Amino acid sequence: MNESDHKRNIKKAWKEQERQRLLGSVPIPLAELRNLFDHLDRKDAPACDHTLRDTLTFLRSRGLEEPAIVAWLNEHGGFCDCVLANVENTFGPFL
Ligand SMILES: [Zn+2]
Repeated sequence: MNESDHKRNIKKAWKEQERQRLLGSVPIPLAELRNLFDHLDRKDAPACDHTLRDTLTFLRSRGLEEPAIVAWLNEHGGFCDCVLANVENTFGPFL
């Protein structure tokens, strides 16, 4: 193995580890997270009132654990419905 292959492998392993770590931190099923992003991206979504109102409505309708997911969203920059895109940028590619 030459040096650049070696570096590439380290990078790959790190990326995989990071992916596992991020996905492991999601407090709801990944499919539901995907559904949440899709729900917020829908065409007739109301304008954001700078709360997580639309997110909470979705979570309740799914019977999901609110406090855990809200804390998790905040941790990843999702403070209201319109900035949940921040979270989607981090996690969307993995879903
Ligand atoms: Zn907003």
